[in-house]
Amino acid sequence: MAKNLEPKCKQCRREGEKLFLKGEKCFTDKCAIERRNYPPGQHGQKKGRLSDYGGQLREKQKIRKIYGILEKQFRNIYKFADKQRGITGENLLQLLESRLDNVAFQMGFGTSRSEARQIVRHNCILVNGNRVNIPSYRVKAGDTVEVVQKARDQLRIKKSIEIANNRAFPTWIEVDTKAMKGIYKSKPERADLPATINESLVVELYSK
Ligand code: SF4
Repeated sequence: MAKNLEPKCKQCRREGEKLFLKGEKCFTDKCAIERRNYPPGQHGQKKGRLSDYGGQLREKQKIRKIYGILEKQFRNIYKFADKQRGITGENLLQLLESRLDNVAFQMGFGTSRSEARQIVRHNCILVNGNRVNIPSYRVKAGDTVEVVQKARDQLRIKKSIEIANNRAFPTWIEVDTKAMKGIYKSKPERADLPATINESLVVELYSK
């Protein structure tokens, strides 16, 4: 299966902001954005002005990287978002947020989306009591997501839940950290999602 092999911190530096791809490290002063906040490469420190197209492209790449999605899959999600009622950009973000790997991450079962994806792939997650190992599985409002009994002793999951417990959980999910179980209550509202994302630029890009 195709995979983005670019080092995670380089991805953040290219986008010029923290994308939180490495779990705990992202919250420390070891974060590469804290140390070298300029694009990687020989010409990284040269300042250049982005064209409108460049800005739209960068925003699309940024969102793709945050959710760890490859180009083709991202475009398919966009097409689906466009067919739905409502605002396409918001639909897009809601579809991305409802992916099982993202929901598992938001519930604290992985310290990053890529770790949560690995946990899903390793058969560690149940949705409504059934084992689901497809990271792109779309979780629906009211679905229960939990860690399988067998995986509850895994140190990485325990540590991740402990870290998540010390931060606030998003309002659209409810988590019982002791039971390692959560409910995806509803789709997130736009106001609940990061203001640093400008999904309308993606809509402009794909509408050309
Ligand atoms: Fe990005 Fe995290 Fe690396 Fe910082 S530590 S550059 S936020 S992946």
